[in-house]
Amino acid sequence: MARSGVTLFWRRLVSVLGWVRRPEFLVFLPAITLAGFWTGGERVLLLLSIGLPLLFALTGSELRRPAEGGEDGSMTERAIRMMDQALAVVGETGRNTACLIVQFDDLERLLAHHGRAAQAEVIARSADRIRGVLRVGDHVVHLHGGTIALALTPVRRLDLESMVQLGARLQAAVAEPVSLGGAHVYITCSVGFCIGGRAPQFSGRALLDAAQAAADEALRCGPCGLRAWSPDLSRQREAQIALRDGLEAAIERGEIIPFFQPQISTDTGELSGFEALARWNHPERGIVPPSEFLPAVEDCDLSDRLGEAMLQQSLAALAEWDRAGLRVPSVSVNFSASELRNPHLPERIRWELDRMELKPQRLTIEILETVIAAAENDVVASNIAQLAAMGCGVDLDDFGTGHASILTIRRFVVRRLKIDRSFVTRVDQDREQQRMVSAILSLAERLGLDTLAEGVETAGEHAILSQLGCGHVQGFGLARPMPMEEASQWISRHNARTERIPRIGLRGI
Ligand code: C2E
Ligand code: CA
Ligand code: CA
Repeated sequence: MARSGVTLFWRRLVSVLGWVRRPEFLVFLPAITLAGFWTGGERVLLLLSIGLPLLFALTGSELRRPAEGGEDGSMTERAIRMMDQALAVVGETGRNTACLIVQFDDLERLLAHHGRAAQAEVIARSADRIRGVLRVGDHVVHLHGGTIALALTPVRRLDLESMVQLGARLQAAVAEPVSLGGAHVYITCSVGFCIGGRAPQFSGRALLDAAQAAADEALRCGPCGLRAWSPDLSRQREAQIALRDGLEAAIERGEIIPFFQPQISTDTGELSGFEALARWNHPERGIVPPSEFLPAVEDCDLSDRLGEAMLQQSLAALAEWDRAGLRVPSVSVNFSASELRNPHLPERIRWELDRMELKPQRLTIEILETVIAAAENDVVASNIAQLAAMGCGVDLDDFGTGHASILTIRRFVVRRLKIDRSFVTRVDQDREQQRMVSAILSLAERLGLDTLAEGVETAGEHAILSQLGCGHVQGFGLARPMPMEEASQWISRHNARTERIPRIGLRGI
């Protein structure tokens, strides 16, 4: 009880001194000293001149605020030094220390909504709150990109339970709203930690690395993730790093390639476009489907790189078809949620189109309905609006599975609904399926949107979809996704076929 009273006193003192060190206060220091002398005489003057420096000296390390945005390397070195010092005490006294890493969840969203200055302010204020939760002597260091490292002063009782409690207290402190320009901003954090001596080696660097590995895992499982380091985690991390390196190299080496699946107009029977679908042309495993590598691409933050590679190769294929005199009206490229959150996306796409001398109308952006339905993010909306204004088509992928509201469809300037395969399967035999597809088609018609049914596997499904008035079809029944050269041959064969079929009466075959 008495100990917690002392701790409370220190914390108050520290917070008062934190204020006292501000430039606003320092400007008034001479006036305050003078006022003290007038009201209290020499004794107050003496108290101020000895007391203040003494307090600074006693709590100096507590108040030493790390340089915001300091050079990453030097801040990491500083954190390592602090952990080394703490570990030295552990060796001598039998006390224990720990390193905690705090990482903010979804800093990107904060940046997109409020801008960089606000993001920095929220991080700084959260760091202040974190300091408020810690004991005197604990150290706080700002690392890269908003990451905060905490080096705990060695204490007698430090176990997993007390660390979990501390982690939870840190998260609660950060979760309190931050008031910014009259608005409340909410942010959460994930925390990883490693208790001194449990790291793979007895060194500051090993302790910091272990806490960072735990924090990365916490962030991955977040928001508000909390993880202790364990040897398993290290193995997982190594595997993750190997996978990331492998994937990154695969993208660089051009092993991720688009396969193209045709989309056909039910009106004319002509090719209306190709969807580009990612494949990993693995040197040992052969063609690997996206289900086996896309989750890892997301986890390793490589979505932008993969997206860039897919866009470049898809547009290059389109330019190549143009040169060969093969008419391909457009190519559809899938964009993930994280790519759509990148504010530079429209600029990048425009640049790629210009480079290939292609009109924006030749590119269709495929966005999952789930992404649009969940996007309260203004950047996503603004990106899609810019791309639509440029002339790119916007297709709502897997439509019927994501609960996008009509208002959202309007807001995101969607041009075409891609009816999900789950509604298309056996649509020719199942009345319930037909009712669902009819409902989607009439909604699209009322909203003035085009339609495409995906996953069309049989001639029966194709025929009924044409009769019901679906604009385009795509699926194994027409062709499977194929490499570019094969797609070129397919176009020639398809063109030869459609030229033989009379144009009138195709709808409703
Ligand atoms: P999706 O965009 O819905 O693509 C359609 C998927 O259905 C493709 O699988 C395609 O091969 C498959 N498919 C097409 N016709 C039929 C059919 O008649 N029957 C059946 N059973 N399946 C059919 P794939 O290529 O394995 O792609 C799976 C998912 O991976 C895609 O679903 C898309 O969400 C994602 N994806 C693929 N390429 C990319 C990419 O470049 N970027 C991003 N962000 N996602 C991609
Ligand atoms: Ca798609
Ligand atoms: Ca789809």
